[in-house]
Amino acid sequence: MRFEPTEIARLYGRSRVGVVVHRDLNAVYVNDAYAKMLGRKDVKDFMAEPDLRQYIPPSFHYEASKLVAKFQDSTGFHGWKKVYNIRTDGTPVWMEISDETVEWGDDNAVLTTAQLIDNGTTAMQVDHMLGRSFIGVMVHRDMTALYVNDAFARLMGADNASAFMEKPDILRFIPEADRDRAIKHVADILHGAREGERHRVRDILDDGSTVWRDLTDERILWHDGRPAILTTAHDVREEVEMNEALMRTKAGLEEAVTEVIRMVPSAVAMLDVYQNVTNFNREFARLFGEEQQNKDDDPVFDISILCNLYASMIKGGHGHANVDSVETPSGSHADIRMNLMEDGRVMVSALDISSHKRKEQHLDALASTDPLTGALNRRGFESAVSRLREIRLLKGKVWQFGLVVLDLDYFKYVNDTYGHSVGDRVLEKIAITLRQALRDDDLVVRLGGEEFAVLLPSATTAVTKRIAERLANMIRAIEIPVGASGNEMVTITASFGVTVGGELRGQFVELEQALLVADRAMYDAKEAGRDTIRFLTFDDDIDN
Ligand code: GH3
Ligand code: MG
Ligand code: MG
Repeated sequence: MRFEPTEIARLYGRSRVGVVVHRDLNAVYVNDAYAKMLGRKDVKDFMAEPDLRQYIPPSFHYEASKLVAKFQDSTGFHGWKKVYNIRTDGTPVWMEISDETVEWGDDNAVLTTAQLIDNGTTAMQVDHMLGRSFIGVMVHRDMTALYVNDAFARLMGADNASAFMEKPDILRFIPEADRDRAIKHVADILHGAREGERHRVRDILDDGSTVWRDLTDERILWHDGRPAILTTAHDVREEVEMNEALMRTKAGLEEAVTEVIRMVPSAVAMLDVYQNVTNFNREFARLFGEEQQNKDDDPVFDISILCNLYASMIKGGHGHANVDSVETPSGSHADIRMNLMEDGRVMVSALDISSHKRKEQHLDALASTDPLTGALNRRGFESAVSRLREIRLLKGKVWQFGLVVLDLDYFKYVNDTYGHSVGDRVLEKIAITLRQALRDDDLVVRLGGEEFAVLLPSATTAVTKRIAERLANMIRAIEIPVGASGNEMVTITASFGVTVGGELRGQFVELEQALLVADRAMYDAKEAGRDTIRFLTFDDDIDN
């Protein structure tokens, strides 16, 4: 059918039915009714911007232009359908339209008539409510998109909704392995066999990249009267990427921690919630591992110390515990620290203090012995005595001791005649002699100058006297060679004071008191002419 503009204006100009004649989706004629249906003031206002795409939801641009192209190439009437357009103010308008191919000037055009209908439809609602949402929305059926909003289009790598709809096939986004399951999933929802719930999918975009989305599917009735699936999609790419980055960081951290544990000089280990050793370094294996036949075998640990420490940590309600200077299965001494972690595992570190302890013992020995003779000094003597006393107390035995104090006779003469170094050699020899004459438990002390004491733990009076006599004999026998030829011998004697201390007939004689008594006895021996032994008891001393 051929139309002239004047003719169509006469026919439809004042009709209440909207009429638009268009070619390539550009209006070449519009009547007042159609212009107003789409929110335009009048025909002139409408024709100032004749592009019809502005009224068509982007999702339908592609379909619309294809249809129009097809209509322009054909003839006659193409039937009725329901569509919705968007007014200039953004509100949707639902219309029933018919399309017809007409001759217009030199070429074909499409004559579209439109009547408003007011029953809203899903398509219109979807677009009106969700079209501009930042949440991606797609309506699809049979793995073909029927509608998408711009947000969804962009999510899938397209510039906008109409660009997306040029290729409405959506199966291509789904990784091949997942396709069967996806097809069944949407079919089930379409047939009402299942409700759609939020699920996470990984899609492959046309450029080969990947996008993670959380999808929710819902069955709706589309405007063609048939069910379709409304899918809303949240881009969770950032969340997924952040998770992946976190996992990578975590793995990296664990690696770093393992490396640090391996390298630190302390023993470090991780115990699981059942107190099994799960991670350990070499130092830990050295302190707590048992010797293995085969070097390559995992060490077997003896961690009873750690289990005890763990028990006390739990009992104390603390998240940490420590114990110092405990002997480990390897025979070393270690300071141990323990920390309870949030997940119930336990971090253990142990520092081998054996060499430190040896140094300490060495220093202790230095501080408690006399450097010239190696005998105990007063300080060492006192601590040795209190140790002995503790041991006796522990054993529940009566603590009684014999005490011998001896002072060399005319020692000043030795120094004056042979020199100080000879005096020193005499003192050394005296100490060696005393030490050799006595048992390991007996204490040899240099009280000062050329005065020594010998403490005999748990010796009776008789035993103490006898030992004093033996010592006197041994000292008399000492010969220190002097002079250039070494033929001349220095000999020496000592005066002895002997007493007993500790628990004696219902009273307790302390070491200090016993020393005073022995000293007195020794002076008695000096007075008696030297090179002799005198015995006094505490009672005698008081009596005098
Ligand atoms: P007595 O029989 O009365 O004990 O006479 P003594 O000469 O032994 O007594 P005195 O106390 O007068 O002299 C002790 C001397 O011991 C004086 C001091 O120079 C000497 N002496 C003290 N300590 C040392 C030492 O470490 N080395 C040496 N060589 N001599 C020492
Ligand atoms: Mg003397
Ligand atoms: Mg003296």
